[in-house]
Amino acid sequence: MTIYWERCSICGLHRPTRTCVMDEELMVCPHCCLACPRRNVCPNPVWKFEIPVRKTMKIKKSEAQKVLMDLLSKLESG
Ligand SMILES: [Zn+2]
Repeated sequence: MTIYWERCSICGLHRPTRTCVMDEELMVCPHCCLACPRRNVCPNPVWKFEIPVRKTMKIKKSEAQKVLMDLLSKLESG
C-alpha cells in the first residue's frame, strides 16, 4: 500500500489518496473513505493512516486477516 497525491476516484479532488482495499480500481482519499458505507468491514481503511489514534492499534490482527481472506476468496470465486 502506497500513498499517492492523486485524484480521488470518489470526489475527484487532488488529495493524498490510497488504493482502496475493497476495490483496487479505486483511489480514495481519507475523507471519502470515512464516508464509505463499507468502512465497518474494511480491514485496511485509508483514513487509518491519516489519523494516528491509539485505539486503531488494538484491532485484532487475526480478525482483520479473517475479513481480508474472506474478501479474497470472494474475489477469486467471482
Ligand atoms: Zn475523495
